Amino acid sequence: MRPLQGALEICSINTATLGYQLPIDKTLDAIARAGFGGVAPWRREIEAANVKSVATQIRALGLRVSGYCRSTYFTAPSREKFLASIADNRNAIDQAAELGAACYVLLAGGPPEGSKDLAGAREQSAQAIAILWEHAKSCGVTLAIEPLHPMYAADRSCIVTLEQGLDLCERIDPRREGFLGVAVDVYHCWWDPKLSEMIRRGCAENRVVAYHVSDWLVPTRDMLLDRGMMGDGVIELQKIRATLEGAGYIGAVEVEIFSQHNWWRRDVDETLEVCAERLQSTC
Ligand code: ZN
Repeated sequence: MRPLQGALEICSINTATLGYQLPIDKTLDAIARAGFGGVAPWRREIEAANVKSVATQIRALGLRVSGYCRSTYFTAPSREKFLASIADNRNAIDQAAELGAACYVLLAGGPPEGSKDLAGAREQSAQAIAILWEHAKSCGVTLAIEPLHPMYAADRSCIVTLEQGLDLCERIDPRREGFLGVAVDVYHCWWDPKLSEMIRRGCAENRVVAYHVSDWLVPTRDMLLDRGMMGDGVIELQKIRATLEGAGYIGAVEVEIFSQHNWWRRDVDETLEVCAERLQSTC
């Protein structure tokens, strides 16, 4: 396992961690100033600015883009809306290419409103990813399917385990051409009895393209916006990273914390300082 002490250059900050308090240029400056080597921006920030100038700034600061967040949901109640999602995601893949992002993060969505067809939602997601993968390959962008915790199956992602994500990669890319993988986010998969097995499988199949850290608080007060800072919850962060890196992962360690009532209320520089300390001491 790589030591993280004095190695913030392999660590990245997902800008959601900072609560979108600042415009993207100021956020990037703060992340670089705090010593991190990477950033994972969101489309809302990039689309509010100018993708070319953001890309230029990122390069000038010497930052790497560990991921670009995130896809418009694939699941849709009509063919027309399905195709609109595809078009929207193609644009975002172009932006990911411009930013030099290590991956474009895919969230599938749940069954469309009014539908109870979970299997149908999964099939629709597979079709969308297969279509987008063709575009991603032509742009040199890697797609990262991010399985979410099953508590989000109804509204954010019908893809809920690493095994399901990896199976999907094999179905879409059976010859392992690349540009398709999974994001391992500890918040979503820490509970999975097959976690170690699937991390080893994912690395052996060369599919793990991102690693996101935060912590699971007990109790958790909000399903979406109450993630913990690393070390404040129950996730065995060092054990998971040891498995991941023991299996060959060499990508960034990205902090991704949605915390409406705690970290989002703090000063950006303070949050970055605590992230740096916890990455080096508990991850
Ligand atoms: Zn994540």
